Amino acid sequence: MEKNSSNSKQKLYLSSPHMGGNEQLYVQEAFDSNWIAPLGPNVNKFEEELANYAGVNAASALSSGTAAIHLALRLLGVQEGDKVFCSTLTFVASANPIMYQAAEPIFIDSEPETWNISPVALKNAFDDSYKKGELPKAVIVVNLYGQSAKLDEILDICEQYEVPVIEDAAESLGSSYKGQKSGSFGHFGIYSFNGNKIITTSGGGMLVSNDEEAIKQSRFLAAQARDNALHYQHSTYGYNYRMSNILAGVGRGQLEVLDLRVEQKRSIFNRYVEGLNHIEGIEFMPELEGTFSNRWLTACLIDREKLQVNPSDIIGALAEENIEARPVWKPLHMQPAYEQSMFFPHDSQIVSEDLFARGICLPSGTNMSVEDQNRVIEIIKKVLN
Ligand SMILES: *Cc1c(COP(=O)(O)O)cnc(C)c1O
Repeated sequence: MEKNSSNSKQKLYLSSPHMGGNEQLYVQEAFDSNWIAPLGPNVNKFEEELANYAGVNAASALSSGTAAIHLALRLLGVQEGDKVFCSTLTFVASANPIMYQAAEPIFIDSEPETWNISPVALKNAFDDSYKKGELPKAVIVVNLYGQSAKLDEILDICEQYEVPVIEDAAESLGSSYKGQKSGSFGHFGIYSFNGNKIITTSGGGMLVSNDEEAIKQSRFLAAQARDNALHYQHSTYGYNYRMSNILAGVGRGQLEVLDLRVEQKRSIFNRYVEGLNHIEGIEFMPELEGTFSNRWLTACLIDREKLQVNPSDIIGALAEENIEARPVWKPLHMQPAYEQSMFFPHDSQIVSEDLFARGICLPSGTNMSVEDQNRVIEIIKKVLN
């Protein structure tokens, strides 16, 4: 069957891989030179090219975004019993590495203008932990669906307490905040190249930083922490987290079309807005002034009273037509795995829980045709009537 056709029987995904064309050339180079290994010229070039794109000094290509968060925590010295603050409205991979270090996650609510970490809740969490004499070792700030968090406010608070920030830019590669690229703000930034992200290596990630020494250390830890000796000497424990030279070839080809993909994602968002925004009771994820979102996924909110429907009604109607839509991420403080964790709300109303109750992510694949997208819009309109 032809790929990417507008065949109405074919499943429409939230965000599926979309190759640019040159990926296979770089993969071919890897084959031709027999660099079929978790290191090699494609890895080095991909790291260099991504660091350039993001405007940071150095990057370390890894097997996943999750691995990048884990290494960032390890490099910041997060250990058993340490506290780490983390956005609550995110994919579980933002927080799981905190558990790998046997540290304790503390979840921070969203605020309505970006859906990301609330500076108010963050300040409350810091005040509380300061009083207890247990400041966190790190703060993981997520940029949800491509929208940057309120970084000025957040970085100010973290600097005041001298706690380093890990910017989880897994969903926001290609976005920017006040002209500076997403992922370049914290002590560390992480990207993901999982199959559903804006660009993919089928699976992979990147740790970036202006701290070149830390990135060197990341490459060392990601390759089993091998000391410089003939006989495989190890002074500490490491991981097998490096990216293969084949997949880095895919990444290099994908990076060439990243800005094009951002444009396409933004067009998809704009077409949804044109098609649905006139309906009272539907509103779209905001784009904070001064920020530029890659619009990885188009997300919107349903006023359940006004429209007399639930997000699940829309998701169900789309599923009947073989179209994938999803609720927004279930907040981590509501997840059975993390129910015991501390949580700081934005105010008396918990913003992340409200977003979860009303939010829907719509199909946002850049290889979706305009006809297919119009079909999605028509189905939603029908449910809302
Ligand atoms: C995808 C994602 C990750 C994890 O990346 P992987 O490459 O799948 O390990 C982390 N955080 C967020 C917010 C994500 O969306």
